[in-house]
Amino acid sequence: MNRFFKQNIPVFKFGGASVKDADGIRNLQKIVTRYSGKPLFVVISAMGKTTNLLEKLLDAYFYGQEDPFVYFNQLRDNHFNVAHQLTDQNERIIAKLTSVLNLLEEKLHTPHSDNYEYEYDQIVSFGEILSTKLISTYLNIVGIRNQWLDARQVMITDSTFMEAKIDWEASEQALKDAIEAATAKKEENLFIIQGFIAGDKQGNATTFGREGSDYSAAIIAYILEAESVTIWKDVPGLLNADPKFFPEAVKLDAISYEEAIELSYYGATIIHPKTLKPLQNKKIPLYVKPFLSPDEAGSVISSSKQKEFIPSYIFKRNQILITIFPKDFSFISVDNLSEIFAVLSSNGLKINLMQNTALSFSICTDDKPHRIQKVLEALSKNYLIKYNENMELITVRHYTDKIIHKVVGTRKIYAEQRTRTTMQVVVKSEDR
Ligand code: ASP
Ligand code: MG
Repeated sequence: MNRFFKQNIPVFKFGGASVKDADGIRNLQKIVTRYSGKPLFVVISAMGKTTNLLEKLLDAYFYGQEDPFVYFNQLRDNHFNVAHQLTDQNERIIAKLTSVLNLLEEKLHTPHSDNYEYEYDQIVSFGEILSTKLISTYLNIVGIRNQWLDARQVMITDSTFMEAKIDWEASEQALKDAIEAATAKKEENLFIIQGFIAGDKQGNATTFGREGSDYSAAIIAYILEAESVTIWKDVPGLLNADPKFFPEAVKLDAISYEEAIELSYYGATIIHPKTLKPLQNKKIPLYVKPFLSPDEAGSVISSSKQKEFIPSYIFKRNQILITIFPKDFSFISVDNLSEIFAVLSSNGLKINLMQNTALSFSICTDDKPHRIQKVLEALSKNYLIKYNENMELITVRHYTDKIIHKVVGTRKIYAEQRTRTTMQVVVKSEDR
């Protein structure tokens, strides 16, 4: 039995912000060096804002209104510049990057299919291939031996492009086979793999959706029964609010999986929501640590019972509050509700908060004008509909009246919902 499957190995995940430039990669190098000689699995995202750049490149290629090569050149220059800043002996890195870029260039010269989601995954997946090729080759050059793995071959999914579903059994087999093959002849301790991307059984690239690298790390940890997952971030750990909106944000030192799942359900963006369940099932702790101060404790999410609850704040902006009244002035009934839910579901609208009175039913949802329009059309026959745009949904876990008062201020509350632990209010957005 391979020692990789026996030892409890750590899985590290470096997001785009932590590998955005040469300094970030040197920092990754420092952190990885602390583990030299011991097994370690490292999951890496695309560098910096590369995924956004690739989305623009894709739109230019798919819709044909812009020249995709403008973005292609930026992509190439960004990666070449980082390689030049990292080391003078960058020929091998440049050669590796060039062979990947050649494949993308070839793709851009080939007509696209009609399937946007498919094309998205084929193109946007290049970001992670480039970042991992660059980092893996650099580490090998500076003497940190590592094995690059292709997630498109070892993370097996269905063909739901842009939102692929993992095939656990096929992935376990493929990942273990790849590790087996790599370690059969020589000792390998350090593996480097892409987050976010995977592959279907036909050999197409797939992705788990934006910010999906955390989820990749969780899948790998689950399969390898890892000791822990550490997400290296540019913040001190998990915070109780987004400091952009809430300057008094504080760090949550230790929280339970349940609490973390609740927070991400309500829209806390620090961890991809699908990440936690596989870890919880195998009781694998998740650390969130500051990559600039690796000795700091950061935060931990684990199965330990949480005794202390610090209030947490989640602000969701760009919301719309839709209120639906049966035209015949009948009471809201389960029949009405099932009709309304069916329309929401078939148009892919998620409910962030809902509430009913005798004569009306209200939902707060992300303002996606295209989909909202379709929902309004479908419901307009039987229902009268009113809506408020430019709303904000504020969720407070472990609230107190004082806190609610503070976040709402003098704003009018349009809808509100309380459980013992969670309070949600819908108010008009204000400029911050
Ligand atoms: N690179 C992808 C994104 O920016 C995945 C990730 O970073 O987790 O969404
Ligand atoms: Mg991320």
